Amino acid sequence: MYTLIGGEKIDSKDKIEVRNPATGEIIDYVPSLSLEDVRKAIDLAYEEFEKINKITPAKRSNLLNNIASKIRENVEDLSKTMTLETGRPIKSSRAEIERTAKIFELASSELRRALEGQFIPLDLYDTPPGNENRIAFIKREPIGVVGAITPFNFPAASFAHKVAPAIAVGNTVVFKPSSLTPLTQIKLAEIVNQIIPKSVNIVTGNSEMIGNEFVKNRKISLITFTGSVEVGLALASQAIKEGKRVIMELGGSDAMIILEDADLNKAVKSALVGRFDFAGQFCNATKRIIVRKEIEKEFSNKLVEAVRKLKSGDPLSEDVDIPPLISNQAVMRMKEFLQNAEKEGGQVIFKGTVPSIGYYFPPTVIKLSKDSNARILKEEVFGPILPIVSVDSDDEAVKVANSTEYGLDASVFTSNFSRAYDIASKLKAGTVIINDTTRLRWDNLPFGGVMKSGIGRESIINTMLEMTEQKLVVYSR
Ligand code: NAD
Repeated sequence: MYTLIGGEKIDSKDKIEVRNPATGEIIDYVPSLSLEDVRKAIDLAYEEFEKINKITPAKRSNLLNNIASKIRENVEDLSKTMTLETGRPIKSSRAEIERTAKIFELASSELRRALEGQFIPLDLYDTPPGNENRIAFIKREPIGVVGAITPFNFPAASFAHKVAPAIAVGNTVVFKPSSLTPLTQIKLAEIVNQIIPKSVNIVTGNSEMIGNEFVKNRKISLITFTGSVEVGLALASQAIKEGKRVIMELGGSDAMIILEDADLNKAVKSALVGRFDFAGQFCNATKRIIVRKEIEKEFSNKLVEAVRKLKSGDPLSEDVDIPPLISNQAVMRMKEFLQNAEKEGGQVIFKGTVPSIGYYFPPTVIKLSKDSNARILKEEVFGPILPIVSVDSDDEAVKVANSTEYGLDASVFTSNFSRAYDIASKLKAGTVIINDTTRLRWDNLPFGGVMKSGIGRESIINTMLEMTEQKLVVYSR
């Protein structure tokens, strides 16, 4: 497949293979662009910025709704493309495409709130004499060219999280997809460009080269990145040195705490969705279970019974629960995590079966002691292994939950709201969900992490505010 620069379809001699994780087969190629191509994309986005900025916000609001409609018209093609390149079960891909359309609609309505500005007569305050004749206006101006980088796991919604708010407030975008999953995003960019021409450029190729260019090129004003902590924090520190604004949505090791008065059936259901949906490849997947000792056995038995029923197989089938992981490397990483956990005293209490062809890893449940040094309790595990740790008190549960460098989401299960609230207040996390899965995310509400899980919060309105500059204009009569 080609890529899109300045509204033109671009190809190149050097290519990147795109594989179907369910079979390991190559399904397409995308261009591996040169540095000159990437610079050209940034130059064209910079030139186009002036023009796009002249479309009135009211008109842009209508165009964003048109983009949403066009995405819905193409739901089957986009979902299938997404399933083929990510391995995401088809039903879940369809849901993500619908969510993508909704994000564009949300941007359409929120842009008014983002661009409203303020009017402040300066004599409202007890300021030094002379201010009675001064009036301040605060207006929001688009920041310019946005450099966006996204991970492999949710290409449609992550595209919308970055592109919809950027173009809503009048910016242009140079967008770098994950080299593993570029196809859905190229198709989405084509739709966006049909409605707002040349607003999005897609640059595929060497990640480090593109990342460095985003950092160094003066024509890019902001870098918005979703992906791993390692890549994100390195990129952020370089970008900040260059005086750029950054939005960083990074990894997590979300804990789910289950107290002895919890509704266990609900907790089991939430753990199942939390850890095994898309084989665990979500930033806000439930990556650790911390359960009160009194109910640990009952919970583990119920959980294993439920995990046993999960069906692994072809993600294009309508009723598959455990799809493949994104790559063979990801499977190898899971094997290493499991070996290390067993070496550190872990006891595997369930291991499922999966197809032998494709990048599958079996759903696995492992019990570990709360003092274990297993890597699985400290690092981000992007696959279907669920560790269970039992604790003796609520304080101990909080201590174990807070024992990683991540702080994305967490959840607490109890029938006592004040206990839940107390624990929620002590947890180091950007979001705490009470009596439901960590996998929840609402695009109109702030999402993001503390500590190494990120910098800033993505909600459509927050991102729009980040993607604008406040200009203070003061008028003296
Ligand atoms: P990754 O960090 O390997 O890759 C993310 C993106 O960065 C890809 O486009 C990749 O090509 C690019 N990249 C790699 N090296 C780069 C470099 N040197 N310079 C610039 N770009 C570079 O992450 P991944 O494996 O694709 O995705 C999984 C990670 O993303 C997990 O850690 C997950 O938690 C995180 N994630 C976070 C959120 C969130 O909202 N917080 C959402 C989804 C995924």
